[in-house]
Amino acid sequence: MPEFAKLEDSVNTKKHSSEQILESITRASKNGFLAYGLDSKITCFSLGLEDITGWHESEMLGKPITELYSIKEKAVLKSPGDITTQIITLYTRDGKQMTLEAKLTGVIDDNGDLSGYLLWFLIEDYSKTLDRAQSEFVSTVSHELRTPITSIKGFASTLLSSKQKLDEDKRQKYITIIKDQAERLSRLVEDLLAVSRLESRKLQLTIHPVKIKPIVDDIVVIIQSKYNFSHKITVSLQEQVPDTWVDSDRLEQILTNLVDNAVKYSPNSDKVDIRIKQVQYGEEPKPMVAVEVTDYGIGIEKDNIRKIFTKFSRLDNHLTRKTEGTGLGLYISHSLARLLGGDLTVMSGNGQTTFTLYLPTESHEGGVIWWD
Ligand code: ADP
Repeated sequence: MPEFAKLEDSVNTKKHSSEQILESITRASKNGFLAYGLDSKITCFSLGLEDITGWHESEMLGKPITELYSIKEKAVLKSPGDITTQIITLYTRDGKQMTLEAKLTGVIDDNGDLSGYLLWFLIEDYSKTLDRAQSEFVSTVSHELRTPITSIKGFASTLLSSKQKLDEDKRQKYITIIKDQAERLSRLVEDLLAVSRLESRKLQLTIHPVKIKPIVDDIVVIIQSKYNFSHKITVSLQEQVPDTWVDSDRLEQILTNLVDNAVKYSPNSDKVDIRIKQVQYGEEPKPMVAVEVTDYGIGIEKDNIRKIFTKFSRLDNHLTRKTEGTGLGLYISHSLARLLGGDLTVMSGNGQTTFTLYLPTESHEGGVIWWD
C-alpha cells in the first residue's frame, strides 16, 4: 500500500472532536482566550492570557471564572452561537485590576448542545485598556490630591481674612485641620511614590536575616499609642520560628499597614491577635514564616476580597467614610510581600478577619539585590 494511503487511513480513523480542535487553537493563541464549562469552571487558558494576567494555565484550570474576573456589564447570549460583548474586570496575578471589553460566545459540542463558553479579548483592546488605566489613575490621583488641598486652602483663607474675629478655640481647630490635611497629603505622596517605585521596578531591597518578633513588638507599641491604647494587641510566637530573609524596612511597612488596618477597621472590638509561626506554603510548599493578624471588626465581604489588594480600593462602608486612608496600603503591602518572595492573603468570616503575611526563611543571594 502506498505511504499516502496509510496516512489517509490514519487521518480518517483519528478524527478530532471540534472541542479538541477549539481547545488547541485557544490554548496556542497569543490573544487572550478563555474557555469555561457550564459549571463556570475554566477549561482552557491561552498563552496570550497568561501574558496579560500573569497567571499560569496550571493555576487557573478548574478554577471558577470568578477567581479571574468579575463582570461589570453583563451581556445575554440570545442563542448559543450568538457573539456578544461583556465588560469585565480581570484580576492579575500581581493584584492589579484591569477593566476590558471581551467577546463571549457559546461552545457547541458535536451533538449540537451547549457545552460551555468562550471569552476573548484582542491585544489591541488590551493596549487601549492600559492607556485607559493610566488616565483613570491620573484622574483618581488628582481627585485624591484635590480634597486635602481644597481643605487647606479654605481654612487658611478663613484664618487670613478673619483677622481678630475668630476666637482662640476656632483658630486652634482650623490650624489643626490644616496640619492634619497637610499630613494626609504627605502620606498620599509617600504612597504614590511607593507605587511608582514598585511599578517602575526601581525599588532597592536589602535582604538579610531578620528576627520577626522584635519588629512586630515595636509596631504594636507604635499603633497602640497612635490609637490611644483602644485595643489590646497580643503577640504569640511559636517555638523555634526561624529568621526571615527580608528587607526589614519593607517588612515594617507591610506589618504597620496590617496592624493599623486591624485596629482602624474594628472600632467595635477591643483586641487584635497576632500569631507568628512556621508553615509550609506555596505551589511547591516551602518552609515560610507566617504572621497572622486577626481582628474582630467589620470584616470584608467575599466579593470584595480581591478588590482590596488593588490601587485606591476603599470599600464602601460607614467606616471607610469615617476613617483616614488612601486605599493604597494593601496594594503596596501585597506587591511588596510578593517582591520579598512571600505572599499576603486574607480570610474574613464569622466575625473575624485574618491577614496572613508569608515570608521566606532563606535567601539565594543575600546582600543587596535589585529587582528588575
Ligand atoms: P486604606 O488606606 O483605605 O486603609 P488599604 O489599602 O490599607 O487602604 O485598605 C483598602 C481597604 O480594604 C480599606 O479601605 C478597607 O475598606 C478594607 N480593609 C483593609 N483592612 C481591613 C480590615 N482589617 N477589616 C476590614 N476591612 C479592611
